[in-house]
Amino acid sequence: MYCRDPVLLAPPSRLINRLRHVAQASLLASVLLFVAVAATLSIFPSAARMPATVGYLLVSLTGVFGIAWLALVIAFQNGIVKCPCCGGCFARRQVGIPWLWFPSRCDECGYDVSTGHREGDF
Ligand SMILES: [Zn+2]
Repeated sequence: MYCRDPVLLAPPSRLINRLRHVAQASLLASVLLFVAVAATLSIFPSAARMPATVGYLLVSLTGVFGIAWLALVIAFQNGIVKCPCCGGCFARRQVGIPWLWFPSRCDECGYDVSTGHREGDF
């Protein structure tokens, strides 16, 4: 049974939309930090002698963003994040490159958390 009340659908839709954005931003931040550190060390080898706390901070940030992304991937793919409209697994199949993009549309019923509409509804 589908829930079609926009008032009831709005808060969980916003939450899922934020989770999608956090997952995509944390992956991007993790990759960018890793590339920035690797490029800095290859261009300026003397940077390897930077204070250890700076290195630990960069590695820790990369790890924190990576763990946040991985936790959200697991939550989306294992049905922990449920569709507010149909109650099914929201994003079991991910569009495009697997694990890199979280769709805004439910796999089961087609409800879009960005627009708040479902395919076929007016
Ligand atoms: Zn759904």
